[in-house]
Amino acid sequence: MDASHIELLSGFLRQDQVLTGREDLLAYAYDGTAMLHQVPACVVLPENTRQVSNVLRLANEARVPVVARGSGTGLAGGSVPVAGGLVLCLARMNRILEVDAGNLTLTAEPGALTQQIAEAASAAGLFYPPDPGSIKISTIGGNVANNSGGLRGLKYGVTRDYVMALEVVLADGRILNTGTKCVKDVAGFTLKDLFIGSEGALGIITRITLKLIPPPAAKQTLLAMFDKMTDAARTISAIIQERIIPCTLEFLDRVTIQCVEGYAKIGLPTDAEAVLLVEVDGHPAQVEEQARQIERLAGEHGARQVRRAHSEEEATRLASARRTAFSALARLAPTVILEDVTVPRSELARMVAHIQEVGERHRVRIGTFGHMGDGNLHPTFLTDERDEAEIQRVEKAMREVFEYAVQLGGTITGEHGVGLAKKPFLPGALGPVAIDVMRRIRKSFDPNGILNPGKIFD
Ligand SMILES: Cc1cc2nc3c(=O)[nH]c(=O)nc-3n(C[C@H](O)[C@H](O)[C@H](O)COP(=O)(O)OP(=O)(O)OC[C@H]3O[C@@H](n4cnc5c(N)ncnc54)[C@H](O)[C@@H]3O)c2cc1C
Repeated sequence: MDASHIELLSGFLRQDQVLTGREDLLAYAYDGTAMLHQVPACVVLPENTRQVSNVLRLANEARVPVVARGSGTGLAGGSVPVAGGLVLCLARMNRILEVDAGNLTLTAEPGALTQQIAEAASAAGLFYPPDPGSIKISTIGGNVANNSGGLRGLKYGVTRDYVMALEVVLADGRILNTGTKCVKDVAGFTLKDLFIGSEGALGIITRITLKLIPPPAAKQTLLAMFDKMTDAARTISAIIQERIIPCTLEFLDRVTIQCVEGYAKIGLPTDAEAVLLVEVDGHPAQVEEQARQIERLAGEHGARQVRRAHSEEEATRLASARRTAFSALARLAPTVILEDVTVPRSELARMVAHIQEVGERHRVRIGTFGHMGDGNLHPTFLTDERDEAEIQRVEKAMREVFEYAVQLGGTITGEHGVGLAKKPFLPGALGPVAIDVMRRIRKSFDPNGILNPGKIFD
């Protein structure tokens, strides 16, 4: 990208929509992933679909790489810029366009924050369940592009389960509409599903219609403490076998418990091996019955203590044990690498034990927490990128963790995506046929390879 391209951009964008100053560019050189950064040539802040289309048309003709960006909270390097390329930041396209209570839908621009979506739904007496830990700062466009999960995934599913329609600007600037507000729609290929989780590599999402549902009438929050990890894992199996599907079933290991307690002072026992956060919601009578069943099951499977919240404030305080996990761990080391593997639920205890063993063998500190009910764990590596020898040990340990997850029938990423961070591991996890098919899909949407090049796979 050179000065002539910037001149062309100023033909249809105001000066404050095109950033080229060194200080401005530095602020867009990162996302939430440790150790990955690249300063872009230029940042563009469009305010409507037409502007996005014009930018892409120009970039496509000039073969300029374009990296879409929401809030840059991604944890796989997906929105880290490409050298010499342009960052297309959708943050200013942040309006909630409509809440349609008759059809139970909400339509928004991609830069609307996830929390804004949840609040707009709630103001209309409705519920948007996906709640990534980053809910207060991530954008709905980023959530769709990464098919983000969250703490309620076990019962309510992930972002994909709520996307009904998308407006997408293709690499050549054409505008595609895919999906409708209809509950049933099988007219042609379901193209919208291709864009969900496509990490900015197939098109730029400029409008999203989401499904809303009626909110649950009641909720109970419980925290169970265990001396043995295997007891926590057995409790989870017992809860599911009892046909109870909690909306939240989260877990912290001992390293994380100690950090969270030091940070948030919730009253967690710092010598416990595991803590489970469980939330059940639904009809008040059923919720009460399920909370009692969970208390009983946890006790039967070795919980040393089960605390139940008796007020909304207490529930929020107990839930903050999990919600502050990443921030608490981030205080411990200069470089914090938050990883993301998923295994079948039946393999959780084995996976957690393996992570601990790998950490000890390679002498790296790992705190693990995650969405235990989904089999989705976040082993978090606490390190220092200035210590080359330690970083080499961390990389070996990470590789072993990913390989073991795949060996157990799991996957190298449950919700953060591939981006740059997981790219080296994708071929091993999916095999050559899947990579070849994906490459051909990508080529058909973006023949010149301008959208997020070098991410996911080459
Ligand atoms: C503290 C913390 C907690 C987190 N908790 C969770 C969690 O519980 N579950 C979870 O799944 N993730 C979680 N994340 C990861 C992250 O927040 C999500 O991936 C989120 O969806 C990213 O949104 P964003 O707006 O920051 O997107 P960005 O990071 O800016 O972008 C993410 C990807 O989407 C692409 N993209 C962004 N906008 C568009 C668009 N409009 N069109 C096309 N492509 C686009 C980018 O190119 C990039 O590849 C967490 C992150 C942090 C820092």
